[in-house]
Amino acid sequence: MSNEVKVKEIPFENVMILPPKPGVCRECAVDHRPDQPHNRDSLYYQMKFRQKHGRFPTWWDAMAHCEKHIQKFWIDALAERGVIVELPEETADGESE
Ligand SMILES: [Zn+2]
Repeated sequence: MSNEVKVKEIPFENVMILPPKPGVCRECAVDHRPDQPHNRDSLYYQMKFRQKHGRFPTWWDAMAHCEKHIQKFWIDALAERGVIVELPEETADGESE
């Protein structure tokens, strides 16, 4: 007799997510300053975002709440690592430069 573990498949949307520990960001469960982007790679963030929006977050989603100069900093930093941040069309604000 073996102790067989029964694995039940749980629909992704119903997976229980433990709340983040105190002192970390409530959105992504990572310790970062509120004016900095969420960690797009945080599993907590991805699960929560997906349950809310029905899709996985992009880097833009992770930094959408940041000020413009912080967004630019991260877009540039990610570009240096070969990651292109795709901006949503509605934020195109017609700057000529
Ligand atoms: Zn966060």
